[in-house]
Amino acid sequence: MSQPLPIPPLLASVSDVAAELDSRVDLKSMTREELSAWVREELGESRFRGDQIFQWLHQKRAREVGAMTNLSKKLRTRLEGTARVGGLALEDVKTAADGTRKLLFRTAAGDRLESVLIPMEDRITQCVSSQIGCKIGCRFCLTARMPMRRNLSAAEIVDQVLWAQEVLGTGTDEGERVTNIVYMGMGEPLDNYDNVVKSLRILMDEHGANFSSRRITVSTSGVVPKIARLGHDVPVNLAVSLNASYDAQRTSVIPINKVWDIDQLVAALRAFPLPPRRRITVEYVMLAGVNDTREDARRLVKLLTGVRCKVNLIPFNPWPGAPYARPTNDAVEAFGAVLKDADYTVTIRYSKGEDIGAACGQLDGDQV
Ligand code: SF4
Repeated sequence: MSQPLPIPPLLASVSDVAAELDSRVDLKSMTREELSAWVREELGESRFRGDQIFQWLHQKRAREVGAMTNLSKKLRTRLEGTARVGGLALEDVKTAADGTRKLLFRTAAGDRLESVLIPMEDRITQCVSSQIGCKIGCRFCLTARMPMRRNLSAAEIVDQVLWAQEVLGTGTDEGERVTNIVYMGMGEPLDNYDNVVKSLRILMDEHGANFSSRRITVSTSGVVPKIARLGHDVPVNLAVSLNASYDAQRTSVIPINKVWDIDQLVAALRAFPLPPRRRITVEYVMLAGVNDTREDARRLVKLLTGVRCKVNLIPFNPWPGAPYARPTNDAVEAFGAVLKDADYTVTIRYSKGEDIGAACGQLDGDQV
């Protein structure tokens, strides 16, 4: 079901290309520190001006320099000559029967990407994309069927959240808001490391959207060298898509396991600099007849010894032509029981938003 929205008119294709080729600096892709330094060096203005511009972009969600009305007209004119406000066009919002919403965006060059809003009791979690396409090739994932187009800029990642706040009506009395962010949409976040880290710093800035690091989770398929780096760079939560209990099984599901195997991945998890009272989330997509036996669960218990973690079981969400099937609920429950007996916290994530292709592993930018 689509719902009408006050969406700004899309750019025509010629101007799309022009926007892509626009060499002016993108204000929305800068952290507050970078913006302040740039404002000082390029415009000779104070740090305070940088903070003002940052607030316009990330709190008031200004989409053009002209909207920044507490800057002088002269400064706005100078800004427009050297800088632009990057980001995305919101093209469509689909709402599933269970209230999950899928936001379809278009970049200035016409590429499409998706983001999902998942309502859960007292919170709304947004699943954001970090790339258009993905190189990792997980066999259960529809995004993997898309050609890898490119990394998203920090502005394009941040703008998914700013648009979502707009859609939810933040700022009105009845407005809901995004409370949690997970980097689990299209793409492997750690394969776009610099832009992802920059987007995290922007989203966590107190002069911007001001998200707590406790409410943000970055998920990886297992890019081992970047896991430790992430832990030292930004104290966000980590989720890892494990999905198997031994190497041959994992390699058949996630080819990246040929590069960094389970031992290397689990060692990286043990060494991850976890803040106190936090745990890593181990994601396990359950595939019928592939990785869903009690024996797999017992091997998983052994593998995770010494890792401060909780386990999220995700029964596979089938899509047309998928090479896997969903396990029975009995198989999922039996698997979870083995882990619980070993004192792991286990959650079973039954799909949300399947009827609009918004469930885990179903994002394709409407392109597949
Ligand atoms: S599950 Fe994530 S890492 Fe794997 S192919 Fe899909 S988008 Fe890429």
